[in-house]
Amino acid sequence: MRVHVIGCSGSFAGPDGAASSYLIEQEDAQGRLWRVLMDLGSGAFGPLQSVIDPAELDAVVVSHLHPDHYLDLTGLEVFWAYHERDDLGRLPIFAPAPLPERIAAVLGRNGDIPDGVGCAPFEHHALTDHDRFTIGPLDFETRRVLHPVEAYGFRITGGGSTLVYSGDTDACDALDELARGADLFLCEAGYIEGRDDRFTGVHLTGRRAGESAAGAGVRHLALTHIPAWTDPEIPLAEARAVHSGPITVVRPMDILEVHP
Ligand SMILES: [Zn+2]
Ligand SMILES: [Zn+2]
Repeated sequence: MRVHVIGCSGSFAGPDGAASSYLIEQEDAQGRLWRVLMDLGSGAFGPLQSVIDPAELDAVVVSHLHPDHYLDLTGLEVFWAYHERDDLGRLPIFAPAPLPERIAAVLGRNGDIPDGVGCAPFEHHALTDHDRFTIGPLDFETRRVLHPVEAYGFRITGGGSTLVYSGDTDACDALDELARGADLFLCEAGYIEGRDDRFTGVHLTGRRAGESAAGAGVRHLALTHIPAWTDPEIPLAEARAVHSGPITVVRPMDILEVHP
């Protein structure tokens, strides 16, 4: 399994990159390459087009409905609905249930059919806790995590390896259970200790991400969702103080290989 970091800036697009979006690639037994996009936050549809032709996407999975994780679906919807190819079909989107009405509200319309188009471009699937679904060779398992809105973390298995993505969350049992034994734990560290102590139930710090990784026995911890105003060395040092395994901070356009 391979993960392309399309955007990883926490909470809003930064000067050097877009908000959250990750492209997962995995070949099936017949050699067909499957491409699933995980989140498409503010500013991420632009750089996505420098990595793949979005028409090659097989599905999109959305962790929660904060703008830094879903807002550029409005651009992908235009791309899909008005594309010169008429054989694209409907693109499956796995997301919290209110997504269609949220996109419609942003665009100032009723329903999920774009203006002048005969049918909806997206096929919506509402996520629930402990959900399991399969996209080609990738098996997904969801857990509801701790965030001010309905938010999910994902455990994704394919090609014998396991990727866990935290989405946005503060420390919680569901995240620790999801991360157990992951080959790659792509985990947010939106806050830092001290400065952000007055906010609870929203984001992890580098320390709390490291504690979750250590407890879950993950092989590789990749910190993400660090906002533009935070020096990435701070959450990295916090995580290293509590977790002894390999830890990196992801950057836009990184390619992460997930090995069993
Ligand atoms: Zn976020
Ligand atoms: Zn959020």
